Amino acid sequence: MSQTTNQKNIQLIRGFKDILPGETELWQHIERTAISLFEDFGFREIRIPIMEKTELFARSIGEDTDIVEKEMYTFADRRGDMLTLRPEATASICRAYIQHKMAAQDPVRKFYTIGPMFRRERPQKGRYRQFYQIDAEIFGVAAPYADIKLIFMLRTLFDRLDVTDTTAHINSLGCPACRPRFKAALAQLLSEAAPKLCSDCNRRKDRNPLRVMDCKVPGCREAMAGAPSILDYLCADCRAHFATVTDTLSRLGVPFEIDKQLVRGLDYYTRTAFEIQTGALGAQSAVAGGGRYDGLVESLGGPATPAIGFAIGFDRLAEIIAAGAPVTTRPPDLFIAALGETARRQAFEWSAALGVAGIGVSMVYADKSLKAQMKQANRQNAGRVLIVGESELAAGTVVLRDMASKSQQEIPVKGLIDHLVKALC
Ligand code: ATP
Ligand code: MG
Repeated sequence: MSQTTNQKNIQLIRGFKDILPGETELWQHIERTAISLFEDFGFREIRIPIMEKTELFARSIGEDTDIVEKEMYTFADRRGDMLTLRPEATASICRAYIQHKMAAQDPVRKFYTIGPMFRRERPQKGRYRQFYQIDAEIFGVAAPYADIKLIFMLRTLFDRLDVTDTTAHINSLGCPACRPRFKAALAQLLSEAAPKLCSDCNRRKDRNPLRVMDCKVPGCREAMAGAPSILDYLCADCRAHFATVTDTLSRLGVPFEIDKQLVRGLDYYTRTAFEIQTGALGAQSAVAGGGRYDGLVESLGGPATPAIGFAIGFDRLAEIIAAGAPVTTRPPDLFIAALGETARRQAFEWSAALGVAGIGVSMVYADKSLKAQMKQANRQNAGRVLIVGESELAAGTVVLRDMASKSQQEIPVKGLIDHLVKALC
């Protein structure tokens, strides 16, 4: 296309988004709060690739899930290998755990990771095609204390971020010993309800009846309202596990609701499943979800390893927090208004030295009047302005102005950096 044709500006991919300055401050705050809390709880960061072999997700998430059936970004690379942009983190972390033989040294590992995930869903508020998750996983602990620790840590994170208007929903999905009995009872109900179910659920109901409980189509929800409770079908071990989780959470003061309808969209869950829900995001009610997946590591070829994890929807969490308290951009510690080229060059060198000393400096490099520069300092909310005039500089002084009190003081150029560091730190 020639340069002269009317070219449209290139827009980002539908369902993808930019996170701009003004928003990134909040994202960084959330990230720092999460990292510091997780590290205190003994979790270590793991960074996994953004792409994996398609087979990893197909095998771990499950062929009958929304993600694998219709949401994955899958393509053949130039050599014909089938690759997928990760739709979630757990499968990759399991792959890494197995591949690096982590169980041989110490099967008990606690990981966290933060990063983008990709699902080709219908974009809407709180639902994107590239979105971010904050993910934490515990490997190698069968005891319910791992479940409790994760849910407690999640609650503590939300408290630290002042996100209180949320509810934790908890259920148990049983284990391979007790789930088949529940599935059979559910299958019975589903065959009677078949005409009311959506086409996806009609297809899934025989192979994976649990999935129907997770369907958001209103007709399916209605049909499932009278479904039996999985909690009535738990074996003694699963029942004891669930009782310890719920009793201990109550003792720790973590508010939650038992939600027998909660199954979660992925195949690999066993026993405890949970979701943090909010009313703040319209239809997108889940701000975090997680559960135990005791069979996954082994099914991917690793040693039998119980495990549990959660993923927080970072975008949704940021939206909830931003709605409550709009973030403001951090103002500079000091604005330097320099008049004339000699003053500007000197000011620029000072700004470099102050930056090294940890003081945020802002200045303009163009030749602007003092009035224009003071306007700029006001717009940036600078608390102090250093005015560097050509003749004052020649006389060995500059002026420091406090923008709030409007008071000014003359300071000698000699020892200026030390003076400013003391005054501003
Ligand atoms: P939903 O029911 O909203 O589709 P999900 O069960 O597919 O969620 P999970 O796979 O459990 O979600 O992922 C954990 C969290 O990641 C969700 O609770 C949600 O906050 C967030 N999340 C999932 N999909 C998206 C998306 N497309 N855009 C933004 N956040 C998402
Ligand atoms: Mg989904």
